Amino acid sequence: MMSNDPVTMVAALLAVMGVAMVIWLLIAAGLRECAASCLCLAGANALQALALVVRWLPESQWRTPGLIADVLLLGAFAMLHLSVPLMDDKPTRWPLLASALALLAALLTQLPTGPHHAAHHLVVNGAGGLFCFFAARNTVRLLRDRELRPALSRIFGLPFLVIGGLLLVRPLATLWMPDVPASLDTRGAFNIAWLWAALVMTLTVNGTLAFLLMLKLVLQIRRLTLRDPLTDALNRRAMAEAMAAEHQRVRRGHTYAVVLLDMDRFKQLNDTLGHAAGDEALKTLVEVLRPCLREVDLLGRLGGEEFCALLPYTGVAGAALVAERMRQLLETTDFRWQGRSWPLSASFGITESAPSDEDPTEVLRRADEALYRAKAQGRNLVQAVEAIDQPAQPPRPQSASGQGDPVAS
Ligand code: GH3
Ligand code: MG
Ligand code: MG
Repeated sequence: MMSNDPVTMVAALLAVMGVAMVIWLLIAAGLRECAASCLCLAGANALQALALVVRWLPESQWRTPGLIADVLLLGAFAMLHLSVPLMDDKPTRWPLLASALALLAALLTQLPTGPHHAAHHLVVNGAGGLFCFFAARNTVRLLRDRELRPALSRIFGLPFLVIGGLLLVRPLATLWMPDVPASLDTRGAFNIAWLWAALVMTLTVNGTLAFLLMLKLVLQIRRLTLRDPLTDALNRRAMAEAMAAEHQRVRRGHTYAVVLLDMDRFKQLNDTLGHAAGDEALKTLVEVLRPCLREVDLLGRLGGEEFCALLPYTGVAGAALVAERMRQLLETTDFRWQGRSWPLSASFGITESAPSDEDPTEVLRRADEALYRAKAQGRNLVQAVEAIDQPAQPPRPQSASGQGDPVAS
């Protein structure tokens, strides 16, 4: 049976906040990566619980329990608002927040307290609601940054919006409907429904933040397993998975192209400028080449100074244009290390998938053959090798370096 006793409801709220606080403290102790955010959430639950307890104290025992409870509540919502950007290691504007809180507390001391003073409640709940709306916006932004579907990121922002709305409903209802009590200790239907909603929302907000934390960790692990830590390009495993998926479409009549590239005389760069300069050159290469690719294209580091671009729905002619653009861009890049300038260039091997290719390794083998030819013919070149069952010749873009035909098959 649903409880209609406000004391039981408040006790349930206190229990939920207490358990949530302990859980966040335990997570903060165990996971250093997100300790600040978890401590903030433990603090938010603790302040909220304290605010409820203080509100329950009779006026005679404490001079202004209402005012203290309201300041604690505002602190709780401010901490909730802070916890979202902290979860993403984003900078927080806590000095601004602390100043806003101090200003609100000063304003509240000037307003008469008590259950029948709507202005006081409007300031407290309005500010609390605003913090929740900011938390909702920050949640949607945080999830959007993680490339989660927009609809899903909005769903996760919703609990904060609802809690913000709930906070505003109470003072507005007291303002417009005189029979709705402002205090929490009445048995009226409105109060009980409001307390139930507060209980559900407290659970939902803690659950949502626990999900955000889990998502951050899962995405971090996924990143570590799929990306090259030096250049942030996809690693060999991720490229192999992507190529296998792309190859499935070949049977349905689609074609994809592969651009394999290897930096020229990279050992010389390492030996002359040092390994750190070599690392910087690899990072520069990825930064320079990324803009040449469409959103659907993938760039991966296969190992050492060898990279691969996977171009879905592209034939060898399109790949030749992309590779030539990459080659020219790299050639004209002004790479500097400790004041010393060093020319960068790479050799490119391109090919496209053919229906006769059993698996992606056959496509890669052809691209590798083309790359070998580019190296053998003097480097800083684009060469193509087509499958035997592909009679069509690709268009041949002009090489800007004037080193002959960039694409040969
Ligand atoms: P080529 O033009 O024939 O490709 O010559 P190359 O010197 O580029 O090729 P080689 O295979 O002789 O040398 C590749 C060098 O790349 C050797 C290796 O030390 C260096 N290398 C591999 N991985 C890394 C890395 O992560 N960072 C740095 N700085 N160097 C790396
Ligand atoms: Mg090389
Ligand atoms: Mg190499």
